[in-house]
Amino acid sequence: MDLTHPAEIDLLVIGGGLAGHAAALEAAELGASVLLVEKMADVGGSTIQSSGSFAFAGTQAQRDAGFKDSPEEIRNDIDAASGGLADPALVSVYVEGQADAYAWLKSKGVLFYPVTLSSNQTVPRTHATQPIQLMEALHAKVLDSERVHFLACAAARRLTTDAKGTVTGAIFELKEGDWQVRARRGVVLTTGGFSQNTELIEKFAPRMSTALKLGGSGNTGDGLLMAWKLGADLVDMAYVNGTFGISINNYPDLQTRGADEAILRLAIYRGGIAVNLEAQRFADESISYKKLGEICLDQLDGVGFQIWDANIMAQSVPAPTATDLEGALARGLVRRADSIHELARTVGLTPERLISTVTRYNADVDAGRDSVFGRTSLGRGWGALVKIETPPFYIYPCTTGVLATYCGLRVTSRMECVDVFGEIIPNLYAAGEIVGGFHGSGYMSGSSLSKSVIFGRVAAAAAVAS
Ligand SMILES: Cc1cc2nc3c(=O)[nH]c(=O)nc-3n(C[C@H](O)[C@H](O)[C@H](O)COP(=O)(O)OP(=O)(O)OC[C@H]3O[C@@H](n4cnc5c(N)ncnc54)[C@H](O)[C@@H]3O)c2cc1C
Repeated sequence: MDLTHPAEIDLLVIGGGLAGHAAALEAAELGASVLLVEKMADVGGSTIQSSGSFAFAGTQAQRDAGFKDSPEEIRNDIDAASGGLADPALVSVYVEGQADAYAWLKSKGVLFYPVTLSSNQTVPRTHATQPIQLMEALHAKVLDSERVHFLACAAARRLTTDAKGTVTGAIFELKEGDWQVRARRGVVLTTGGFSQNTELIEKFAPRMSTALKLGGSGNTGDGLLMAWKLGADLVDMAYVNGTFGISINNYPDLQTRGADEAILRLAIYRGGIAVNLEAQRFADESISYKKLGEICLDQLDGVGFQIWDANIMAQSVPAPTATDLEGALARGLVRRADSIHELARTVGLTPERLISTVTRYNADVDAGRDSVFGRTSLGRGWGALVKIETPPFYIYPCTTGVLATYCGLRVTSRMECVDVFGEIIPNLYAAGEIVGGFHGSGYMSGSSLSKSVIFGRVAAAAAVAS
């Protein structure tokens, strides 16, 4: 047998991001031989570009920080964020698996930073990692494992089936030509979302045509298309949405605001405000960054500016990277000034208008009532509003970007793919961002990375047990 390109294996895992690594390691620990394949030269997909935030509830880290949380509260938040559309069975898989997933990650050498608050969380439950360290730790375990065979630069092209429609493996495109693998226990699709496939974004989310497209460059929806060809049902496709807070790297040059080096930064959940090109606030900044993303696209040129002061800057932390405000300043993506007047001039806003907006906001904070948008907290009821009053002041030109698609294949609670008639497609599993039915119309920050680990492990266990 060609050991580099095996012809047969127990489990084939397609996609070398977080879900793929979780599935491969779990299957190997359960005794299966695994082939983990990645289309690109490097592993990590969107995971390695992410802010590294995981959402777990009821952890010791939360208790140590004085945050009271529970599995029931995270269930309620996921459900509320989804607009009541999340499949309760999938939410249960998450809720029941989350504590173990946290312990599992730590057992693999993944390091966690102090707990913070993020979008759609009623309690701070972002357990942040450094995404490069996260992927390096897991990939080292894959390379160490005697049961996992890893191959990069191998793009799966099609799934293969037998006469009964049972998935038997996949065909890959290699430089040297096509290669076919047979997978005795099945195939787990962990190819991520389709944020980098313009055609699919146009098809399912034409509203997002002007948003930046981010995420792993291999995330073109290959797994989705391969399963779709076999009749797989799709869920939540109408809810693809962009995220507010993506850097405009060469502001004010909007033509070259490429996605290549764009980053996500969120000062709003620490107390910052957001204004448009008219120096006017345009929303209650405590709402989900997805909703803000939609509203931002409706502003002039789709541009927003986050504004904060020295007190908020003092809360900058390296992880989650979305809160690394100092890092963004060092990269030249944030402007600084000693007065709001000067701050406005750094980005060409009318100083008098910005002064008026900030003055009114500060007066509202004093009065205990946001008279413009009714903002009452930093994020979903958590944290008191703060004034923007202590120099130096900071401004960050940003826009909306599709980071992730959070919709896709309908699966059972064992991560088996289901076809358009509700029947299980035998031996086909999915995990991670490719799965639909979990986020519904919204998204609680941190739940996608956690879901990738939880669902990846469940898919592997189900396949190995089959
Ligand atoms: C800037 C940014 C910030 C984010 N921050 C957070 C956050 O803090 N918390 C959170 O929960 N979520 C966050 N997300 C979303 C999150 O990163 C993803 O949803 C998650 O990483 C998906 O993991 P995955 O394993 O499913 O896919 P990925 O990590 O994207 O991995 C999929 C892999 O499959 C490979 N692949 C694709 N097609 C093929 C093929 N045909 N053959 C072989 N391999 C293939 C890809 O190249 C890729 O490496 C963020 C996303 C971005 C872009």
